[in-house]
Amino acid sequence: MIAPIETTLAGLRARTTAWRKAGETIGVVPTMGALHQGHLSLARAARDTCDRVIVTIFVNPKQFNNPEDLENYPRTEQDDAKKLESIGVDVIYVPDGAQMYPDGFATNVSVGGLTDMLCGAHRPGHFDGVATVVSKLFLQTSADKAFFGEKDYQQLQIVRRMAADLDIPIEVIGCPTIREIDGLAMSSRNLLLSDRARAKAAALPDVMEDMRVALAKGALMSDIVDVAKAKIIAAGFNDVEYLELRDSDQLKPLNKANANSRLFAAAWLAGVRLIDNVGVH
Ligand code: AMP
Repeated sequence: MIAPIETTLAGLRARTTAWRKAGETIGVVPTMGALHQGHLSLARAARDTCDRVIVTIFVNPKQFNNPEDLENYPRTEQDDAKKLESIGVDVIYVPDGAQMYPDGFATNVSVGGLTDMLCGAHRPGHFDGVATVVSKLFLQTSADKAFFGEKDYQQLQIVRRMAADLDIPIEVIGCPTIREIDGLAMSSRNLLLSDRARAKAAALPDVMEDMRVALAKGALMSDIVDVAKAKIIAAGFNDVEYLELRDSDQLKPLNKANANSRLFAAAWLAGVRLIDNVGVH
């Protein structure tokens, strides 16, 4: 059965209040739509561990630092509802802009430290937008558990910090990155790649995998990063925004892998910004 779509907070709360009264646990999967198997894996994880599952779809204008990117972001709501059918989610919450940010809205949730680096350094205001909308979604859904992809690992850590700092009683669960057959991390943005560009895109995870193996054997980032960037560019990418080894908790820079390190990358291919990360230990 196609899950009901709820567009108002009042409607959503009527449902969650009844669920809570019945003692049921609630899981939420926040998304911006254009759903793929990565999103569906989060919905499945929620379905497996919670009595009720809410998938939210909201293309959040506050987290886009580029108006063109917001304009071009794929919107496929009816298809999204169909894709969720087989998983059996209880409701799809699709608030509009006025519902989320009514006239006079003036609050910004800003997480310090973790937001200054990696994507945060290149997308000013992006993570404030994420933290603001996610804190609203946590409060609106009153969920017990929230499911996020490790694909956006920095976002996952920021959301964890935000929920802990604001005492929002929710468990934030990170789920593994789902990939295409050639290794490219699934992303709604992949839809924006031409066939030609798409054929080149797997160079990013390929190079990262080679780096992962080398780093796990003890190689130093400073010895391998320039060659790795050159390989990504040689494969057809236009720019490597960052390619860095960091610790998995505080995201502090590392030159050598330890038991808890991750390799992070962002690179531009034919006008599309792709990000990826992989655990290294
Ligand atoms: P988005 O719609 O891109 O904002 O993503 C919504 C959620 O899906 C976020 O928690 C993402 O980290 C997660 N997600 C996106 N792509 C993937 C993927 N390839 N594998 C796992 N989770 C993903």
